[in-house]
Amino acid sequence: MSSVPVAVVTGSNKGIGFAIVRALCKQFPGDVYLTARDPGRGQEAVAKLQQEGLRALFHQLDIDDLQSIRALRDFLKEKYGGLNVLVNNAGIAFKVHDTAPFAVQAEVTLKTNFFGTRNVCTELLPLMKPYGRVVNVSSMVSSSALGGCSQELQQKFRSDTITEEELVQLMNKFVEDTKKGVHDREGWPNTAYGVSKIGVTVLSRIQARLLNETRKGDHILLNACCPGWVRTDMAGPKATKSPDEGAETPVYLALLPSDADAPHGQFVSNKTVRPW
Ligand code: NAP
Repeated sequence: MSSVPVAVVTGSNKGIGFAIVRALCKQFPGDVYLTARDPGRGQEAVAKLQQEGLRALFHQLDIDDLQSIRALRDFLKEKYGGLNVLVNNAGIAFKVHDTAPFAVQAEVTLKTNFFGTRNVCTELLPLMKPYGRVVNVSSMVSSSALGGCSQELQQKFRSDTITEEELVQLMNKFVEDTKKGVHDREGWPNTAYGVSKIGVTVLSRIQARLLNETRKGDHILLNACCPGWVRTDMAGPKATKSPDEGAETPVYLALLPSDADAPHGQFVSNKTVRPW
């Protein structure tokens, strides 16, 4: 078994994830795994970094596929005996003008952004080594979408005692409410992406709390963040940040020094803790 530290970035064949891998290759003292659902796109991305003189390793990972997540889990367990850095970056967003019915957008978006990310956490968080760092890439849109929720929902999402099961129930309820055409009346905002990212931010707060309760002595730090508005296939060419600039906050959180005890369980943008 290798004692080399290991970092994994989900959805990193392009965009912000690719830039996070590039930065980690330069700054992380260990093996960095670029992962992609499509091995062809993943290997191509690894080759691109190689041309820049950087060495990333590749492992397949489709966060929508539990078998794929578990294959990565088993690989990490066997080869490294755990994991030091996990960046949950993979995500999707329907384009503003997409004509898919809102209920379809809700189900598909929540499936990857919330349930896929949660499944990765469920399988990989138990592998985190002491002083491990976990970064869940959320979005400022999670904050604005929270503001668009009913007072009752806002209270639940801001609660310091909400459980993961309660959060999962709420995310499922959103999808069901869109199918019944009652999401407005039930106090949900009109954004599937926003609700999926509320899920990611709240999940991060819950997971950080659980780490405090169960593994306090392991000094693991887990946070959600917004990379900013970044020029990628998702956000388009008009966005203000380059992918490398978008990677800065996630990488800062991934490389928090071993003597740091904060931030933890926070929502961070531009390397600054934001109120939730
Ligand atoms: P992007 O260029 O569209 O890249 C998304 C990445 O996620 C791609 O590598 C994609 O792989 C991968 N992915 C999607 N579904 C996946 C799955 N089921 N399993 C594994 N990988 C999957 O988007 P981006 O702008 O870099 O976004 C990265 C993250 O930042 C997302 O979580 C996004 O919500 C968040 N974010 C972005 C912005 C922004 O302005 N760009 C702002 C706030 C937050 P394929 O190539 O196979 O599709």
